This record gives sequence, C-alpha cells and structure tokens, in this order.
Amino acid sequence: MIVEMRKGVTAEEIDVVKQRAKSLGLGVQLNLGTDKVVIAILGGNTGQIATDIFAVLPGVESVSRIMKPYKLASREFRSQDSIVSVGGVEVGGRKVVVMAGPCAVESEGQMIESARIVKEAGAVILRGGAYKPRTSPFAFQGLQKAGLELLAKVRDQFKMPVVTEVVDTHDVQLVSKYADILQVGARNMQNFTLLSEIGMKGCPVVLKRGFSATIAEWLTAADYLLAEGNHQVILCERGIRTFETTARFSLDITAIPVIKKSSHLPVIVDPSHAAGHFALVPAIARAAIAAGADGLLIEVHPNPKEALVDGLQSLSPSDFTRLMKELRQVAESVGRSI
Ligand code: PEP
Ligand code: MN
Repeated sequence: MIVEMRKGVTAEEIDVVKQRAKSLGLGVQLNLGTDKVVIAILGGNTGQIATDIFAVLPGVESVSRIMKPYKLASREFRSQDSIVSVGGVEVGGRKVVVMAGPCAVESEGQMIESARIVKEAGAVILRGGAYKPRTSPFAFQGLQKAGLELLAKVRDQFKMPVVTEVVDTHDVQLVSKYADILQVGARNMQNFTLLSEIGMKGCPVVLKRGFSATIAEWLTAADYLLAEGNHQVILCERGIRTFETTARFSLDITAIPVIKKSSHLPVIVDPSHAAGHFALVPAIARAAIAAGADGLLIEVHPNPKEALVDGLQSLSPSDFTRLMKELRQVAESVGRSI
C-alpha cells in the first residue's frame, strides 16, 4: 500500500501514519521527496487491510494499493528517477555510463592493460570477475581474494571505481572491502539471503536479471536490497533464455522501456553475455542506448584469443575504441552523452 502525504505535511502527521501501520503489525518505508512524502506500507497481509484506515489520517492525500509484487522498486513508491553515485560517477543521470573490462581477473598485467584501454576509450568503471559462477565446477573459478587485491590495486592506479561479482553470502564482507560496486550475477538473482546480506551492507549493487526471470520477479528481487535500506541499486538486463539458439541469450530490449515505466531504478545493459560473440556486441550496445539504457557493461580483453573466460564475446581494444565512438553518436541522438 502506498500512502501519499499532502504538501507541507508535518513530522507528527507522518508519525501518526507510521504508528498506525506498526499497530497493525506492518512495516513502513519513507520516501522523502523534494516536494512530496510517500510512505510504503509493507507486510504480508496489506491486502486484507482497508485503505480507509490510512486515508482518514491527517495529512494523507491519497492511499493506493500496489497490486504488483514489487513495492520499493516501483514508480508508485518513487516517481523521480533514482541516481546511484559511485566514486564520482552517477548512474541514472543524463550521462550514459560505460563499465568495461575482462570477464575474469587473470593477472596484474592483464588488468593494468584492460584499465588503460577502457579508460582511454571513455569507460568510467572497470569490470573484472574475481569470483566466477561457472556452469561447470571444473572450469576456472577466478583468482578470488588475489583477484580482489589486483582489482583494488588497479582501481587506485587508474582512479576508476570497480565492479565485481559476489557469488556467496560469506564473501560479501570481503568483496565489499575491495569493490566499489557489487555485482549479483544472473544465476544468483533470486538468492535472497545473498540479496539481504548485500542490502545490509548498503554499497552500490548491479543486480543482473536472471535469464529465466520475468521483469516482475527481477524488480521483486531488487526489493530485497531496498528493504534493507540499500537504495544504491542498478538493474542490468543481460539477455534471457528463449527458444532462439543463434545467440547465447536473447537480449530483451523491451525490458528497458518497461523498467523505465515501472521502476525508478537505473537500468544498464550487458550486451556481451547476451550476444556470446564479439561480432554481435556493437549492434546490441547501440540499440540499448537508443532504447534508453543508463549504461552498458561490456567485456573487453587486451587479447581476447588468450582470455581464460568468455574470450569469444570479449571485444578487442580496437573494437571497443571504435564502438565507444559510435555509442557517443547514439547517445547524443537521444539527448544524452557519454
Ligand atoms: C559476468 O558478468 O561475468 C557474468 C557471469 O554475467 P551473468 O551473471 O550475466 O552471466
Ligand atoms: Mn563473462
């Protein structure tokens, strides 16, 4: 249930609504907008409680039910776009943010070279996986703690925030010590204990869409982060599984305007995992920006032929530099910049 308060509402009036909700065993979350206060009433049985219970209280303008399963991620809860700030970079504003780097952290030399290439081309956040959620237990699992240390070293050298995946609840503390943004991978989108743990940490998160998740399930997963008070959530569309087999996944371009309509959270696109092949990445990346994405997460490797993970879908330095030039033009044509 969403309670919209009147303009100029007093702190006492807000408190009365909070107390009423609490007396009914319900939770509350406040959104203190610049000119409006919105209160989300949360809890299992809100469907059985009459909206009038809140509508009659002083200072209340309107009360509406959210029939959608997600609440805190919804536009109804917060009408303005949310902006996630990380190390001086804003995700969700006018600027399109490009995050780029290799799939996996392999060595210091590879990370230094990657950072140099992507920064020079205009990327503002460096990616690199230290913990890799591999489909097979026999595949390279990442350098783990040593990978985190390398990431932090390169971050400091190049003054670029880093995004890296956390795959296990037990690693949240360690990964958040090194990374600026924690990535929740597609395979973990509904790992609710992991989401709650990251929610409690409060650090910026990239929440990838599970490849068989609906948009509603994805936004409801985002609610797990938001419910813990972590508002630094960036959604990432990375392709879903369909009957089509010519690409690794099918990028759901429709998800971008749907998210913009249904949620206040910024949404970025990972064209690399959707494509599965470097030759398909540029077209998908251009389309994502044209469709309104707030950023991109792109795999780039100094030498894709030598990559330990996802070499086929990684862009070479020259391909990435060329793509960035094209992306700037697309961004400008839709009133944004890179
Ligand atoms: C990744 O970004 O390296 C990754 C494993 O992505 P996804 O979770 O989308 O498969
Ligand atoms: Mn990858």
